[in-house]
Amino acid sequence: MIEQTATNFLLYDLHSHTRASDGDLTPSQLVQRAVEKRVNVLAITDHDTIDGLAEATATIAEQQLALQLVHGVEISTEWENHEIHIVGLGIAPYHPALTAFLAQQVERRQQRAEEIDRRLAKARIANSYQGAKQFATSAVVTRSHFARYLVQIGIADNLTQVFAKYLAKGKIGYVPPQWCTIAEAIAVIHQAGGRAVIAHPGRYDLSAKWLKRLLADFAEQGGDAMEIAQCQQAPAERQLLASYAREYQLLASQGSDFHGVCPWIELGRKLWLPSGVEPVWHDWPHTRNPAEQRSG
Ligand code: AMP
Ligand code: MN
Ligand code: MN
Ligand code: MN
Repeated sequence: MIEQTATNFLLYDLHSHTRASDGDLTPSQLVQRAVEKRVNVLAITDHDTIDGLAEATATIAEQQLALQLVHGVEISTEWENHEIHIVGLGIAPYHPALTAFLAQQVERRQQRAEEIDRRLAKARIANSYQGAKQFATSAVVTRSHFARYLVQIGIADNLTQVFAKYLAKGKIGYVPPQWCTIAEAIAVIHQAGGRAVIAHPGRYDLSAKWLKRLLADFAEQGGDAMEIAQCQQAPAERQLLASYAREYQLLASQGSDFHGVCPWIELGRKLWLPSGVEPVWHDWPHTRNPAEQRSG
């Protein structure tokens, strides 16, 4: 049997989204839900933006919620023709280098959105960028926003269908990635004082050989950690990823990648690390036992 490690007495969920990118909940709703789900430490990691953090911080203070917020971001990068997501944890959200970098990512997103619009127009779907923007509350426009618009105008029944037919790799509305490199993402996360984490390594459709190449590259370039645990995952995958973390000397992270209320994914659900890995939060101050903190 797999056991929880001793440091897991606080429930950590270090990957989640708000309406600032493609999540359904406002930052306030998200932190309230995290408390309901008994999460103690939550990272908000919106795609290429930190815009949700201020509202989350304010709500935690106003409502005196028993929740530690970790400032995070999820950066889209390009590696060997794959879109690889790098989560930054514990960043200073207003660090000037990060601000400049995220502005660049937003610019890349805008250019890509225009290109998606042109491609969908060829499939006789007009003005999809305008439509997608209606669903976005920050400057970050994601494929999810396009998908919501296409569902709204009756092109498909649900988001999964839109991705399968129009937006997934190789489909008519897909634009090959123009994101920054992994090295650039790691550098800016470090400049902002954070740790760089490979997000959901099991979801890139990489063979074991290529996944190991990715992890080796990431570690060599100074990356800090990888996600080991998600809500929807066979125990075998968690153990395998844990063995990779040990092999490449990466710290271990865990997160639901919560985007909104759904039957399969929930904040905090099934999040624990196998033994033998070092948690990414091992030296964070709030991981200390509360009794210890009281005694000084
Ligand atoms: P982007 O970063 O703009 O490429 O958008 C990617 C986002 O789309 C991901 O973060 C997911 O939230 C969402 N997504 C990707 N694939 C699917 C899918 N098959 N069904 C639903 N949502 C998806
Ligand atoms: Mn997303
Ligand atoms: Mn992701
Ligand atoms: Mn995510």
